[in-house]
Amino acid sequence: ELLVNQIAAGEVVERPSSVLKELLENSLDAGARSISVDLAEGGVRRLRVADDGGGISPEDLPLAVARFATSKIATLADLERAVSLGFRGEALASIGSVSRLAIVSREAAQKNAWKIAVDGGTMTPVEPAALAAGTTVDVEELFYNTPARRKFLKSEATEYGRSEEAFSRIALSRPDVAFALTHNGRRSAHLPPEDPRARAARIIGDDFAAGAVEVSAEGAKLRLSGLVAAPGFTRASRDAQYLYVNGRFVRDKVVAHAIREAYADVLHHDRHPAYVLFLEIDPALVDVNVHPAKSEVRFRDSGSMHGFVFHALTRALSRPLA
Ligand code: ADP
Ligand code: MG
Repeated sequence: ELLVNQIAAGEVVERPSSVLKELLENSLDAGARSISVDLAEGGVRRLRVADDGGGISPEDLPLAVARFATSKIATLADLERAVSLGFRGEALASIGSVSRLAIVSREAAQKNAWKIAVDGGTMTPVEPAALAAGTTVDVEELFYNTPARRKFLKSEATEYGRSEEAFSRIALSRPDVAFALTHNGRRSAHLPPEDPRARAARIIGDDFAAGAVEVSAEGAKLRLSGLVAAPGFTRASRDAQYLYVNGRFVRDKVVAHAIREAYADVLHHDRHPAYVLFLEIDPALVDVNVHPAKSEVRFRDSGSMHGFVFHALTRALSRPLA
């Protein structure tokens, strides 16, 4: 079982940033309105996510860290719909097999909080603990018991940079939720609940957000909305390209290409435009299980997807010039 979890960890838990992504998705799935992240040494020594979400009951704590135990899928139909962000029920089990994991949680109805710890795959009994509300997940000494994997980690600065990017991706997608990030005791982000343009200003920059063009297009069973760089915006960067499919950050060649084509067509430049775009699509028209870390999708009909995005962008970019 430990070995199975460690092998699964190889797919879901590559580095601190992938742990952070899983924990943030869990907090959002739990309905958190405010989430704080604390990292030490790039997240390798410690990575803590505290939320004010619904919490986990003491009976469910051992299940939460067990493999394939997910509270989010009751039927096969749920799996097909895959509505929540996390749905495989293996993230916490995987993380617990390659670190020292501790979870303290309190459901609103409980008189006190409860704690469970998993040390290199070994679970301790659930015991009472102190916490006002929500859930705090602590991951220490990532890969301490799998030295081969630990060797693949890069410098503290690099691991921190990736963790910060994982944080940014999620914070950009949920401007209605408050987020905070500290690294080695220093605060590096403090985001109140705000509107999407204000959140984009904080994460991508005022220069992008101030003039960004709004996109809003509807098709049969899909909808595209968000912000794309204004015609005059010159900072060209592949890094500031954020696409979310049904709430989840993805990289997709079809959509990226359609966006570039629209910029080339309307504005006659082929730089890498910055954007924050949300595609809501009937889950039956997209396969999100292509990649274990779920950063890729496959559209049923990539040709019509390309056309839809291209036309939506062309219309949005033509508006200010008209
Ligand atoms: P999944 O998210 O795929 O269900 P995880 O291993 O990430 O699997 O989490 C296992 C379970 O633990 C979740 O289904 C959920 O019930 C519970 N859980 C994890 N994190 C939190 C959290 N921050 N708040 C409330 N419940 C949580
Ligand atoms: Mg999860």
